[in-house]
Amino acid sequence: MLKKLQTCTELLHGGRDPALHGGMVNVPIYRGSTVLSHSLEQWESRKQPDNPYASYGRFGTPTTRALEELVADMEGGYRSLVFPSGLAACTHAIMSVLSSGDHILLPDSVYGPTRAFAQNTLARFNIAAEFYAPDIGAGIGALLRPNTRLVYVEAPGSGTFEMQDIPAIAEQAHKAGAYVAMDNTWATPLYFKPFEHGVDISIQAATKYLIGHSDALLGVATANEHAWPLLRKGAHDFGQTIGPDDIFLALRGIRTLPLRLRQHWDTGVKLAQMLAQHPLVARVMHPALPGDPGHALWKRDFLGASGLFAIETIPMPAPAFARFIDQLRLFGIGLSWGGYESLVLPMDAPKRSASPFEVKGRIVRIHAGLEDSQDLIADLQQALQCASDSLAVSGQAVEAGI
Ligand SMILES: *Cc1c(COP(=O)(O)O)cnc(C)c1O
Repeated sequence: MLKKLQTCTELLHGGRDPALHGGMVNVPIYRGSTVLSHSLEQWESRKQPDNPYASYGRFGTPTTRALEELVADMEGGYRSLVFPSGLAACTHAIMSVLSSGDHILLPDSVYGPTRAFAQNTLARFNIAAEFYAPDIGAGIGALLRPNTRLVYVEAPGSGTFEMQDIPAIAEQAHKAGAYVAMDNTWATPLYFKPFEHGVDISIQAATKYLIGHSDALLGVATANEHAWPLLRKGAHDFGQTIGPDDIFLALRGIRTLPLRLRQHWDTGVKLAQMLAQHPLVARVMHPALPGDPGHALWKRDFLGASGLFAIETIPMPAPAFARFIDQLRLFGIGLSWGGYESLVLPMDAPKRSASPFEVKGRIVRIHAGLEDSQDLIADLQQALQCASDSLAVSGQAVEAGI
């Protein structure tokens, strides 16, 4: 009998059974809509909700099943469902729990498109969305109403990286009979175990670290046994389905996730530490840094950090800021993250309704890729130097005290 396996070992051996596929190491890409039965009895058995993969391609194929089982195991949940994007996983998880007349609470720091969905689409279905300060903790109790059916959490928050006391929030939500759904994309299931902290539905934008190579879009929602019937029914009724090629890419990505993530974490912290010392950087938002307001919660609940964090520059004229961004050689300018390549994303001031977030300079989100960390540091330093030179020419450096 083997002792409990380490995560990296589990991820290499889970979700695949070569004996079922002619000895092939990887689960093949199954294409298909119709699944044939050889008898009435088999046909009847395939219609069971507990056997959703067997009856029709829309419910998945053996390729889908491999990914769903692997992610459910990683998250520590009961079952998973794949979606065509991370956002689709967020919105369908939310819709699967809510009905007209319900109330949902979301953190002010929630992923922007999830915020827009709550404000625009949920409103059309007479569902009230209310935003709360991400650091509210057990104080969420005061916002829970008799019709609050879902409390949404995301830690750290998108763009501003504020941590949340998820166990405290979940305890209050459950006392009031509400479900807790979490966007767990930042930490991945490796660095945060949502179901050990009171979450009922955990969401991954698999587009990011799980796929890990910027070559596909995919989402996964995982439920505990309590929330699974809602998630399954809610999602299947919408008819979501994913092509098997993208699922194959997610399975492939997950095999190397532990190795990649360790490197993203390490490099991200190195970049953040360098930037925290730089005179053009007013603040670094990274919960793994000891000075960060969310550091204690991160240390208590998380097992690691990903490579995504943000900085706020000192206030500077647009041309100096443009010099910084444009002079970067190794960082692409673009959306998304979690791939092997480093990225920067100049961000607008965050939208807030419950907790003001003051920004004097410019926020830049940084994704530390898998390049050598010293190369990345040198690139950031030379680009910031270009911005400094531009400030010196325009006379701003004296004002800024550099
Ligand atoms: C990117 C992202 C999503 C959405 O994923 P897509 O696959 O781009 O739809 C959801 N949540 C978070 C935190 C993200 O960063």
